Parts: sequence; C-alpha cells; structure tokens
Amino acid sequence: MELHEQEQPYQMAVEYEVVPSPAVTTEPPIIRRLDESVVNRIAAGEVIQRPVSAVKELIENSLDAHSSSINVVVKDGGLKLIQVSDDGHGIRYEDLSILCERHTTSKLSSFEDLQSIKSMGFRGEALASMTYVGHVTVTTITEGKLHGYRVSYRDGVMEHEPKACAAVKGTQIMIENLFYNMSARRKSLQNTVCDYPKVVDLLSRFAIHHNNVSFSCRKHGATRADVQTIATPSRLDAIKCVYGVPVARNLMKIEVSDDDASSSVFTMNGYVSNSNYIAKKTTMVLFINDRLVECSALKRAIDIVYAATLPKASKPFVYISLTLPPEHVDVNVHPTKKEVSLLNQEVIIEKIQSAVEAKLTNSNDEKVYNEQMVDPSPSALIPYSKNTSISPLGSGSKSQKVPVNKMVRTDSLDPAGRMHAYLQVKPGNLEMSSNLNIVRSSIRQRRIPKENADLTSIQELLDDIDKSCHSGLLDTVRHCTYIGMADDDFALIQHNTNLYLANVVNLSKELMYQQVLRRFAHFNAIQLSEPVLVSKLILLALKEEEIDEEFNEECNEDDDLKSKIAQMNTDLLKQKTEMLEEYFSVFIDPEGHLSRLPVVLEQYTPDMDRVPDFVLCLGNDVVWEDEKNCFQSIAAAIGNFYAMHPPLLPNPSDNLQFYKNETSKRSHDGENIIEEDHLEDEMEHELLAEAETAWAQREWSIQHILFPSMRLFLKPTTSMAGNGTFVQVASLEKLYKTFERC
Ligand code: ADP
Ligand code: MG
Repeated sequence: MELHEQEQPYQMAVEYEVVPSPAVTTEPPIIRRLDESVVNRIAAGEVIQRPVSAVKELIENSLDAHSSSINVVVKDGGLKLIQVSDDGHGIRYEDLSILCERHTTSKLSSFEDLQSIKSMGFRGEALASMTYVGHVTVTTITEGKLHGYRVSYRDGVMEHEPKACAAVKGTQIMIENLFYNMSARRKSLQNTVCDYPKVVDLLSRFAIHHNNVSFSCRKHGATRADVQTIATPSRLDAIKCVYGVPVARNLMKIEVSDDDASSSVFTMNGYVSNSNYIAKKTTMVLFINDRLVECSALKRAIDIVYAATLPKASKPFVYISLTLPPEHVDVNVHPTKKEVSLLNQEVIIEKIQSAVEAKLTNSNDEKVYNEQMVDPSPSALIPYSKNTSISPLGSGSKSQKVPVNKMVRTDSLDPAGRMHAYLQVKPGNLEMSSNLNIVRSSIRQRRIPKENADLTSIQELLDDIDKSCHSGLLDTVRHCTYIGMADDDFALIQHNTNLYLANVVNLSKELMYQQVLRRFAHFNAIQLSEPVLVSKLILLALKEEEIDEEFNEECNEDDDLKSKIAQMNTDLLKQKTEMLEEYFSVFIDPEGHLSRLPVVLEQYTPDMDRVPDFVLCLGNDVVWEDEKNCFQSIAAAIGNFYAMHPPLLPNPSDNLQFYKNETSKRSHDGENIIEEDHLEDEMEHELLAEAETAWAQREWSIQHILFPSMRLFLKPTTSMAGNGTFVQVASLEKLYKTFERC
C-alpha cells in the first residue's frame, strides 16, 4: 500500500543520556536500568512513527467509539496540530485520569480476548504514546451529561484536573507540537515530504471501507475539505465520492469465499478495476477484519494478474475487504498494527488471485472470443463461465472415490502441495481449477499481442517459439506446483503424480527471451537511479573476464587494449541507441550513459551486478547486420541478463565457511591487527547479510514471479526435454508403494 511505501526508515531519535564508555578496556560496561520516562519515549517513538500514524490511531479510536461522523484537521503536515473530532460515545469523567497512561484500555482485559478482538485498538498505548511525544488535549462528553470536560496531558498524566466545558456529542482529541522533544525526528520529517497527502490518502481509504460513517479532512484554516464524504449504504457511491467518477465507473464487483477448514476459511468482497481503467500506480485498499492493513504478497499477486491480462499493463485499483474467523488472524504482530498474520495466507492469496483473474477475463469475454476465432487453438477455445463444468481433463471421474495410492496432491492452482502448506485437497477443488486453467489458457492466447509484431522478423521469431514448443512440457509448466529450491539451480516441482527437478536458470532465460519478443517495442522502463557510462561498464566486464581467466593462467590483454575494445564497443552501441531505445527500451543517453532498461516481467528487476556483462554482450555478441538475427540476439542478451542466475555471492546456507574463512585466514601477528580484524569482521558481516538478502530475494522471485509467469507465458522448447532442464526424480505413486511396504 503506497501509504507506507515511501516511508523512510527512521533511526531512533530519542535523546537520552548517553553513558560515556570508558577508553578501551577489558572491563565489561555497567548495565543500567533505563529511566521509565526514557523507556516510554522510546516506545512512543515506535507507535507514533510520524504524524500520519497518530491520525490513524485517533481515527481508529473514533471508529471504536461507534462514531458516525469523524472530522480531521491538520496543520503543518501534522507537526503543529492534529485534531480529530467524532460523535462517538465519549469518555467517562472517572476514566480521564488514567486515559493517557500506558496500557490503559477499555477494549481488552485478558490475553485470550485478543483471539476474538473486534475493536481496532487493544494495547492502550496510542494516547499514552502521543503524550510522550506531543501535547495532547482531550475534550469529551458522554450521553445525557449537561456539559463535557477538557483536560491536557503530558508524559502520560493529566496536567490539571479536568475542566468543565461546553461540548458537542463525542470526543475531540488535539495533538500539538508532535515530536517537540525529538529534534532529530522532527527535523527529518520537516525535511522530507509533508505528511498531509498521506493523511488524505488514509482518510480516503477509511472512508470507502466505513461507508456508513461520514469523514472529512482539511488543512487548518482551509475552507474546502480535501476529503468529504457523507454516510451512504453504497460502497460504490463512497468510492465515487472519494476517488471520483472515472474510477468508480471502471470497477467490477468481486466476491469469493471458502469454507473448507482443511484449506482456508474466509469471505472476501471488493471492487477491482476493469480494462478501461488506466493508472501508473496500483491503488490497493485492503481491510482484513475491518483493519486497514498492508499485504505486499497479495498486492504483487494481483499486479501480476493485471500485467498478464491487460495488454497495456495498466496498474489496477483494488479495494478488498477480507473477513476471517478472528482466531485465524494474529493482529498483534506489528507495533502500528499495519500488518497482521493470517492462517493459510498462501491459499487465500491464490484464491483471490484466481478470482480476480477470472473476473478480468470474463469482463473481456467478447474480445477473447473474437481473437480466439481468428486463431483457434484446441485448449483455448472453450469459453469460461461460472457454471461450466467442462474440463479438458475429463473431470467427470474426479468426484468419484479416489484410490488411496492416487491421493497425491496434484493441483497446481492450489498451493497445498508446497512444503510449507501441506494440506488435504478436496476433490471438488479440481473442477474449479480446471475451469481456471481454461481461463489461463485463454489469457495466454491473448498474450501474444498481434499488433506488437508489426515487423515480420519478430512475427517469425514468435512463430519459431510456437513451432518449437514441446506440448508435454507445456502441460507440465502450466500445471506444475512449485515445491521449493532443491539446490542453487534446480527447483523441485510436482506435476500430476511426478516430481521433477527444473533448472530455473534455463527456464527463466527462455521465459525472458520470449517475453522480450512479445513485448517488443511496447516496454515499460526501469529508470536507473545512477546512470553509468557504457564504456565504464564494458571495461569493468573485460576486467572481470580477466580475473576469471587469471585462474586459467592465460595471458591477458593489457589495459590499453582493453580501453580500445571498450571504446569500439561504446561507439558501436552509440550508433544503435535509437533502435535499442525504440524496440527494447534500453536507453543510452547522448553522453553515453546507460540510464534505462526494459520491464520484461512486471515486478521484476534484474540483478544489477550483471549489467556490465550485458553491455559487453550487446557489443560483442549481437549480429547487427541481419534484422531477424539482430532482434534475436538482442532478445537473447536481455534474456540472459534478466534470467534468475544464482547471485554472485556464494549461497550462505551451504557456503558459510566462505564468509568465515575469510576472517580466520588472516594472520594475527601484530598490535593493530585486532583493530583491522574488527573492521574486516564488520565487512564480512555486511557481506554475509548482503548475500543472505540476495539469495532470499531470488528464491522469493522464483516462487512468486517466475513460476506464476511461466504458467502464463512460457512455451518450453523441445530442446528442454533433452538438455537437463527437466529431470524426473520420482513418481509419487511408486514412492507411495515403497513406503507402504516399509
Ligand atoms: P486502545 O485503543 O488500544 O484501547 P488508546 O490509547 O488508543 O488505546 O485509547 C485508550 C482508551 O481511551 C480506549 O480504550 C478508549 O476507551 C478511550 N478512547 C480513546 N479515544 C476515544 C474516543 N475518540 N472516543 C471514546 N473513547 C476513546
Ligand atoms: Mg486506540
């Protein structure tokens, strides 16, 4: 959710007394108990990270108080003033004295209550936190009282006795001078973008989910509100009011639910944009059990569907309200409650993804049929409809009793086969999934946008892909389940009752190659934050090559020669910039900097360590003379660059020694060695952390980007059947029999 995406990580900016550490000594430092006010301020800094987090807490409190109208006023991005007024049930006079103490709440009394908590707050920390980092004033009146009370708080306690005052129904909470006592945080907030747009965004999200509550949000002193809604029974009206008619007009209602305790239990309803909606950024508003939360995995899953289904790859607008049994949601996993953890999250995400996919495809039905008539292909011809029970697999027998040795999870659309979610699959799901397969095939059908291939050579290359496609492998790729990585290159996958090892480097290389041809001349671009001189990149690549060759003890070109080669290649590429940019979105600016690369798969950025190699490859390996060969070799170079190679740093999970040995290899004879060791230890530590991140990221991309995209786009080549890309390792039926004997 964009709301937090731009957030910068903040260093703890609490100014507490630093105990001077004695000069280098072997004595351990003294451990002291932190002063309670310091502890509170540190905790407060975590709960209230920035003005918008305070607004979120206050709105949640107002909603918990059953308000039907909530108004927000903000001054100076919230640093000067945040004021939230509601017409809720108010706060009892007797509670005012402890209202802002830490851990005082009316919403939770025992830990077990957390299992079934319906209110948004529960920790009794928000108001207290605000009083540690700002000046809080509360004005409130409860029903039936003639007057209300006003009282100000500082560091958790009342500054004075509550004063009687005139008040309108409900509560008004005012925070002034937020972070007045945390100068570093205040300064960094003043320097970065103002929080007001974030506040407006937050209100907009709440307003469409809580359509029965009216919201307003304005800058202090402004006459016009930036968000202004009136309570309405229609969610679509609320969306129209907040996001405008053009958005609301292009939305489709979506509903999906599951009630199978062995896989997932949830209901979901929402709105997703159709193919007429055009936007550069995804807007995803997600409420889980009425909590506004983020879920990047779900966002990504939906982005992938849109990228795959819509030719223009417009980003979607998505509003989703997901309801699960409270005991399936752990709300207590994040200090600001912006994330929750769900039982069977993977299954739920896949089900939502499939529903969105079906919806999008359905909405384009007519178009799909037309295209299919032009280009008939047996599996893609069957139109998808909710009631269709046609299955190319002849699923009629699926509902019959399955022999026990056949009870192996084989449904690629249900992630149940994965190591971490090994659950029972009900035969009923299979029918649904066959339908979805049909949908997927029809998407694939539409994925070859004929208008892109206006150059015959590209059309020929695409035809070559079709011709060399291996139908058996195609079926495997379409319907396989990713289980996990078996080693650095091979993933373990399941197809029907067979287990295979699949070489992800080969597969991703081919997928990227094919995608480059399909997206030819229609790429979105990745902008490099620091454009680099092409000549430098080539030189770097040549030097890398030399290092590799040194191990072979071959003689090397001298530096002069290398510079010459680099210059020649640079000149060559400079002549080709126009074509590279127009057709492949590889942009080299007039000064010779590489500054843009194509988006080959949505959500995926290649490993930038491989840029030098790529540029060298463009210069060396591309056959420029002949059009078809030229396009093919450029696509292959991009394919190789974007492929999911193992990261350059060795995998820490089986090469930990590499990171450790580096340290122990050093000699220890000398005084200053200790200090050096310290420094190098730190570097190694960083290197290890970097390697761990790179490997984890790659594995994530393989599971969440490579395999879903392969299912949609890849046409595996016949050569893959014999070159070790797929290796069958076991048949589960046979394994079952083996185990049965044990
Ligand atoms: P929590 O929401 O976790 O209980 P808070 O510090 O946010 O903790 O609020 C403490 C208590 O103050 C709440 O439990 C609630 O009883 C009361 N409260 C806060 N804001 C309001 C409000 N706008 N209207 C009525 N009661 C409120
Ligand atoms: Mg609260």
